[in-house]
Amino acid sequence: MAKIIIFNNDTDRMEVYYRGEEEPMPYNTNSTLKVKEFRGSSRSSTLWTTKRTMQSWNSQRYIYGSGIPVGFAFKRPYEGGHGTQSQHYAGTAFDVGQRLSQTQRTRLWNSANNSGVWSFVEPISLTPTWVHFDKRFR
Ligand SMILES: [Zn+2]
Repeated sequence: MAKIIIFNNDTDRMEVYYRGEEEPMPYNTNSTLKVKEFRGSSRSSTLWTTKRTMQSWNSQRYIYGSGIPVGFAFKRPYEGGHGTQSQHYAGTAFDVGQRLSQTQRTRLWNSANNSGVWSFVEPISLTPTWVHFDKRFR
């Protein structure tokens, strides 16, 4: 069971949810993002993200049109990460597609880059074996 804190961008308020690892994240539609996928290898008992990030995921999943295997989204600073890691600490970034073929991953990267959903999609040259996209505060 995870405690999940969501910043609701529409009300400017924090919301708290308790969800099992196999349950979908709050605001996720069609169970395309489970708690265990969002956390990846993080062992944190508390996770956090924003409503806007979850809605962006829903849009991206719809636009891509197939399942998106998630490596992780959330990480605590002491749990490692890669170059653009601060957005993972905020729970607003995803590293996905690790299990896809190169062709599928390129299609996913193009989908994310063209979707208009994300604030940032890391250049494909810097992410040879995954796709990173995030929703930054602006
Ligand atoms: Zn990343």
